[in-house]
This record gives sequence, structure tokens and C-alpha cells, in this order.
Amino acid sequence: MRHEQAYYDKIKEKFAQEREIRVNFRPEGTAQFTSDFSGELEKYAVDPYSDDWVEREPIEDTVECLFIGGGFSALLTSARLRERGVESIRIVERGADVGGTWYWNRYPGVACDVVSYDYLPLLDEMNYVPKNHYSRGDEILGHCQAIAKKYDLYELAVFQTTVTSTTWLAEEQLWELKTDRGDTMKARFVICANGTLSKPKLAKIEGIESFKGHSFHTSRWDYDYTGQDLANLKDKVVGIIGTGATAVQAVPGLGEAAKELYVFQRTPSSIDVRKDWPTDQEWAAKLKPGWQQKRRQRNLQGPKISEEQKKRQAAYTKEEKLRHQENSNIDYMMRIHDRIEKTVEDPATAEALKPWYMFMCKRPCFHNDYLPTFNRPNVHLVDTHGEGITLITEKGPQFDGKDYDLDLLIFATGFEVQKTGIYNRIIGKDNLDLEDKYQDGIRTLLGIHTEGFPNLFIMGGYQASFQFNLTDMLQTQGDHIAECIAYARKHNHQAIEPTADAEEWWVQEVIAHRGKTKRNEECTPGYYNFEGESNRRQDGNYNGGFLQYFNHMKDVRDKMQDSFRFS
Ligand code: NDP
Repeated sequence: MRHEQAYYDKIKEKFAQEREIRVNFRPEGTAQFTSDFSGELEKYAVDPYSDDWVEREPIEDTVECLFIGGGFSALLTSARLRERGVESIRIVERGADVGGTWYWNRYPGVACDVVSYDYLPLLDEMNYVPKNHYSRGDEILGHCQAIAKKYDLYELAVFQTTVTSTTWLAEEQLWELKTDRGDTMKARFVICANGTLSKPKLAKIEGIESFKGHSFHTSRWDYDYTGQDLANLKDKVVGIIGTGATAVQAVPGLGEAAKELYVFQRTPSSIDVRKDWPTDQEWAAKLKPGWQQKRRQRNLQGPKISEEQKKRQAAYTKEEKLRHQENSNIDYMMRIHDRIEKTVEDPATAEALKPWYMFMCKRPCFHNDYLPTFNRPNVHLVDTHGEGITLITEKGPQFDGKDYDLDLLIFATGFEVQKTGIYNRIIGKDNLDLEDKYQDGIRTLLGIHTEGFPNLFIMGGYQASFQFNLTDMLQTQGDHIAECIAYARKHNHQAIEPTADAEEWWVQEVIAHRGKTKRNEECTPGYYNFEGESNRRQDGNYNGGFLQYFNHMKDVRDKMQDSFRFS
């Protein structure tokens, strides 16, 4: 149905009002959260997936390539390094195995929202076809472990270990890493592969530590308490704070298993249909070697646009294009509303579940069982209309004067965003701390290299392109990093460092492509827009498009001597 512009303008007004409500409740922005799990919050960081704490002597040795973090960034880059003959590769990982996000996130219902044939990396190399259109968490973790085995990454890996500092030793042209296990490891090349969203965060809620029941963060699921199949919850009153992508997947199982479930909502997610099916084995059998690489190349080129469409687009002014895009996004969100009305029986609950923000202001979700869960008599939505839970007593959360008496409280409150992809202390040339260097704004080449920090590579940080399929982005970075290291090795260089000019070029490139629209400022707060904080234009993703990012990388590699200093 076609609508007048006034229809869209009115909805945009409502979006703005809903945003205002949230910004006014939390002008402190990202400071509303903490990832400092010391003291009484320590229990939220404990790894529940590993039974054994492996005692070992401190390590003092030197490797060629060292990865901080053992998730997909490390695995897919290591594969490329092995292909180029690099033998000495070490992963240092805080978990007890590889897998990164898929090691930690094992909550019931965990699955990936990106089509598996695109999301799981190295399918050609591993000769593996995923079991379903969308992979479940355990399959992805298994894939990570299989990659680590195939490429012999377990041999030198150290687990249950957190890097605390990384310091450049100018004379030796090596990095020295200290860890919380007393290690002093040296490495020629260091790759910060510690993920974008890896540190769990909690909202700073008054009284959080006074709760007397059981509680945990979704990335530290306590199956000893819930039971593997959640059967232990049948006589338990359970609460979950947060309704982001994690909660959307966890709530259906909890609703089925718990005696009572309270879902504490601050902002609803947009939830579309999930089109999932088991992989068609006939299709899988016909796949030719290199099939995933071909898919990646097709995805990189983006959708094909006909000459006719191109002509039509060219006839629009910039404003018209923007309005057209916005209106289509609003149409999408109204379809999401419509789906809620058709699915959720109680009209007040349905109304509360409607997200009032522009499509993609928050991470879109896809699920077929989340909305129907609210039709269960034991499941209750506690809508805080943007305010959120601000008080927890020994019984549980309190809202609107009502105490919620819970046995179990689950925090689905998300993860700290690694603006720079680093969180240990990194000291480069001339004693320069990377945090200090970034004080006046992030400065990198391609989001990967930074001047003054030779042989350091950052993955998944800002100033890189953003992709809904993160592994596409990571693979592109991994390929690039492996090429750079191979180049340095081939030419017997001990160190590779971007030039000041190359870095400045990229910072300006990032700035030129950011802030073209007011979209970020107009979006409801969330981690996509730093909880509504205004930020420097260079402190975000590169918005020039993935293909452009890919091409820039290639250009940089084609002109290695112009972009880097070697020693
Ligand atoms: P999010 O940061 O997306 O969600 C946190 C939730 O907690 C939000 O709903 C937030 O509300 C809410 N919240 C925070 N503080 C309070 C409070 N005081 N009271 C009530 N609610 C509160 O974290 P997730 O773990 O859900 O997801 C993080 C990201 O991980 C996703 O965006 C996605 O990128 C990835 N992911 C991917 C999955 C997949 O592929 N399927 C699955 C799960 C996660 P508000 O919105 O108002 O801030």
C-alpha cells in the first residue's frame, strides 16, 4: 500500500519521541554499563564451561606470530599463514578452548543469524557443508575446533590466559607480552584478535549485588543450575533482563521450561521470520570445490542492478534517495508491527513488543518462537518503556513499586564494544601507549595497522568496514594480514609499519564517508551508536562500502613500499 509522506513523517516523529525518552533516562551513555567484574561482581566472569583449571609453569619463549584471542579472527588468519608456510603460531586465549564468541555463548537456543554457508569460514578448506541453513552454536564451536586441529593450532596455544600488556622491544624488533599467568612471551608479529563484542557487560543497577537468588550473564550460562535441558527450572521463577539478539534466542526455551518467566524489557527488538531448513543433501553433493569462495566473491560484488534501475536511481536527488530509503525502512518496521499484532494474543503485550525506531538502528532479529512465547500463561513481559531496571533488591528486580521475587535472574545485557579492538595495555615505539595515541581519535591504516606499532595487526576494530556477516570482514582482514606478513618474511624484513602519510590518508577516507546522514544521531540508543553519545567522526566504521574497503586493501598491498616502512 502506498502512503502519503505525512504518514511516514508521523512515524518518524514517534521514533524521535521514543529516542528522547531513552536518552533522557540515560544521559550518561555508555557509562551506564560496567565490564569491571571485580569484587562482588567477580562471579559474572567465571568460566562455567571448563571443569579444570590447568596449572602450568610460566612460559618464556619466542614465537613468530601470536594471536591475542582464539576466535574466528585468529583461526581464519592462521589458516592463511599456514598456507604461506608460517610454522610458529601461538594463540593466547582466556577461555579453555578456541571458539571466541562461540566458546562463551552457549545459552539455550544459541544460533547464528547469518546463513551458515556464508558465516562459517573456510568451508572449502575444511571440506564441510553446514547441517542447516542457519547453524546452531554447538556446530559452530565444533567447526572452530576442527579448524584449530586441521591447522595444528593447539600445539602452541595457551588457554585460560589473559594478556595484560604488549610492549614493543625496539632493539630486538619483537613484541613482549605479559599475561595473568606470569608468562613473558615474545613474538615477531602480534595480531589483536580479541573480538568486537567479547567482554560481557552489566548495567550498573543499584543493589545488583544484594540479590540473594542465583544469577549469571548469558555468556556464562550455568547449566549446573538450569540442567542441560533446563529441566531444573520447572519449579523456578526466572527473570531475564534485556531483549536483544541473545534474549530473543534464549527466551523461548526459558518460557517452555520455567515455572514462571519474567522478561524485563527496556527496548523491544525487531523480530522477523527465520527461514531455516536442514541442508539439502542433493545440493550439498553437487557443490564443486571452491564453492564458498565463489559465494564470497558474489557477495562482495553486491546485488546486481539492471541498467534500467541505474537510470532510475540516477534521476533522483540525494534527498529523494534518502527519503525513499527511509520510507522503505519504515514500511519494513510496520510489517514487523503487523507480525506482532497477528502473533501475540494480548493486545497490551503486543503493543509493548512493538519497536519504534528505524530499521537497523538496533540489531535486527529473526525468530519464529520468541513472539508466541508471550502467549504462554507462565510468561510475563515487564515493559519498562525505555526506563529499564534501575533497582534490584535481595528478592529480584523492582519496577514501578513492584518486587519481582525470583529464584534465577539472567542478565542478557550484552557486551562492551571494543572501539579499537584492543583491551590490554599496548606500548609501541618511544613508549607510546595505544590508548594515548587514540586519545584524540582513532588513527589506523585500514583499521588494521597503526603508525608507531610495527608488526601489530588489529582485527575487527573500528575504521574497518562493517558487515552483517562479520566473518566475511574478518576473512578479508585475515587474508590481508597474512599477505603483509608473507611479504615481510619474503624480503627478510624484521618489521612492517604503516607510514604517517598512509595512516593520514585512511583517517581522512574514514571521515569523508562518515556522517553523511544524521542517522546515527536520530537512532534510538544502543551499542550501534555508542548509546546515543556523540562521537568523533573517525571513531567508527569505515562507511565507504565493503567492496571499496576490499579494493583499498588490495591497492595498499600492490604498493607496499608506499604504504609501509620496513626495517
Ligand atoms: P544487546 O546489547 O544487543 O542487548 C542488551 C539488552 O539489554 C538490550 O535489550 C538492552 O536494552 C537491555 N538492557 C540493558 N540494561 C538494561 C536494564 N537496566 N534494564 C532492562 N534492560 C536492559 O546484547 P545481546 O547479547 O542481546 O546481543 C549483542 C550482539 O551479539 C548482537 O547485537 C549481535 O550482534 C550478537 N549476537 C548475535 C546472535 C546471532 O547471530 N544470532 C545472537 C546473539 C547475539 P536497550 O535496547 O534499551 O539498550
